Amino acid sequence: MELRDLPSVDELARTADDALAVAAARAVIAEARDEIRAGVDPGDLRSRLRARLEDERRPRLRRVLNATGVVAHTNLGRAPLADAAVARVTAVARGYSNLEYDLLEGARGSRQDHCAALLRRVTGAETALVVNNNAGALLLTLAALAAGRDVVVSRGELIEIGDGFRIPEILAASGARLVEVGTTNRTRASDYDSAVGADTALLLRVHQSNFRLVGFGEQPRLEELARVARRHAVPLVDDLGSGALLPSTNAVLGGEPVVDESVAGGADLVCFSGDKLVGGPQAGIVVGRAELVEKLRRHPLQRALRADKLTLAALEATLALHLEQPERVPVLRMVREPAESVRARATRLAALVGGGVEETVARVGGGALPLAELPSFACALEEELAPRLRAGDPPVIGILRDGRLLLDCRTLRDDEVEEAASAVARARA
Ligand SMILES: *Cc1c(COP(=O)(O)O)cnc(C)c1O
Repeated sequence: MELRDLPSVDELARTADDALAVAAARAVIAEARDEIRAGVDPGDLRSRLRARLEDERRPRLRRVLNATGVVAHTNLGRAPLADAAVARVTAVARGYSNLEYDLLEGARGSRQDHCAALLRRVTGAETALVVNNNAGALLLTLAALAAGRDVVVSRGELIEIGDGFRIPEILAASGARLVEVGTTNRTRASDYDSAVGADTALLLRVHQSNFRLVGFGEQPRLEELARVARRHAVPLVDDLGSGALLPSTNAVLGGEPVVDESVAGGADLVCFSGDKLVGGPQAGIVVGRAELVEKLRRHPLQRALRADKLTLAALEATLALHLEQPERVPVLRMVREPAESVRARATRLAALVGGGVEETVARVGGGALPLAELPSFACALEEELAPRLRAGDPPVIGILRDGRLLLDCRTLRDDEVEEAASAVARARA
């Protein structure tokens, strides 16, 4: 093709019946011009235009198949919602709702009431408040209870979670002053006791989440901290992070603190995420003593951080499942699924695509239980498929190990196996 053979933008755009066509045609012709000048044949411009338009119309935020074996994968949207939660979101999203309307009184109500009753039942706390995420919950708690005053935290808990969420920085942003006690590996209740002074607003305990110290370490038990807090008449705030709601989940996982134990153990406020082990939408949940929660509710940041109606709808439905049908919460189901049944799924996928079956180790993710290993199985494929599977529709994300691509089946649903198999067939074609 020569430069003079290039069609005009309008001519090329007319070949596609699309509102975006003119801009796309201009881009295709510009590319083709550069290629011709560089001595490269640009090929069929119409099919290039079609491909470009298809790509432009494709949503950027999309569903993917998670074959990484990381259950609450922060980069892949953390918790998939239960069907009941999706149904509730759809119902609330399509029309109006009683978000801030009291149906009994026929008057203004509070959006915070919808999840509060369930959260009281699940956690045993006096009351609850829901905001946008747990980082927001912690920020609001510190701003409302400790701005301009001291917050006592163990040096072993000054952690960074995810991409740059650092406890000392959140504290600074809230206007509270950090008072560090103990050492990285050892902090005792007496360290807190001697650090409390006239300016102390609260004691903060932070779950170490994605980090574990092995060897000689010591952190006081919650009950001991609660005694120190009561002696000095300051609140104890427990940031649990992942927030396991059910002891039965813990029977599988071990070691992850359960919210009701923290409430019963003497924490005045407990905050945790909605989309880690709760398995619901992104949210930050604070439960605890009514008079403290009321201070959070009245703080101006509450308005800035409050959860929207879709989040509240999904969270309410998810919490109800925790009480009655926890096996319907996808995160809980995936974490608890016996390895043999994961193996069956991996075997089925391997048979469909002609791959091998391999033992793997799946993880909880989302900063919960970094050391917990969930025995799992994957379908092993050729490494070169990885970028093509990512570029497919739906994209499939696996893990690369020893020169192969592993599709871990703990995080694939039964009904996603065929979809994954077709994606592999397309990637090979
Ligand atoms: C994950 C985590 C947070 C942040 O929660 P988001 O819901 O991601 O904002 C805060 N504190 C702890 C201990 C965590 O594990």
